[in-house]
Amino acid sequence: MVVGRPRPAVGEALRRCPACGGWEYGGAPDCARCRDLVDDIVEEGWREFVAGEFGAAGPEGERAIAEMVADEPDRHDWRVVDAALDRLTCAECGSRLGGGPVGCGPCDLAHGFRFSAVEIDRPGVPPGNEHAIRVNVAIVRRPYGISAPELLARRMLLPALLVGFLPTTEEAQRMGARAKKGATEEDWISLVGALVGDTEATLNG
Ligand SMILES: [Zn+2]
Ligand SMILES: [Zn+2]
Repeated sequence: MVVGRPRPAVGEALRRCPACGGWEYGGAPDCARCRDLVDDIVEEGWREFVAGEFGAAGPEGERAIAEMVADEPDRHDWRVVDAALDRLTCAECGSRLGGGPVGCGPCDLAHGFRFSAVEIDRPGVPPGNEHAIRVNVAIVRRPYGISAPELLARRMLLPALLVGFLPTTEEAQRMGARAKKGATEEDWISLVGALVGDTEATLNG
């Protein structure tokens, strides 16, 4: 299901998800509402791309566009590439292409190629913010072959990344240490809230 919400803007305040109680987007993939919001990030990019380049395209048209995009991932925005892969089916495992379990040849290949897509930072964010969003979204939407503490860290950081935050190397190391010590979901929620509070203060003044 698609909620149809545009992704958060740079500097926007974090919002609590009424379904899981954490920051919106951070509950994915287990919270269905957060998962839909994360899917919306990708779908929004796709809708804009198809409308801008092709006008209206029916389901068959969209599949043809998806095949074209999947053949040249380095020429398209990452959201367009991820949405294109979602529209294609893996001949081997039957999942969305690139979404199957680790060890499925075509999925591993498509999942690897998706990272050659174009990532453009929004104005006002630290360089690399869009890359971090892209990686975390990909991991949250295909959480295979990743440890539980890393998945927790990736998904809990996503709400902060979406409003334009990017941890410095030092902050990332500190958060990594917290994660290794067994930071809980509640720990992450307050950690991310505090970090974004700091960022907003810096952005506004
Ligand atoms: Zn949620
Ligand atoms: Zn597969």
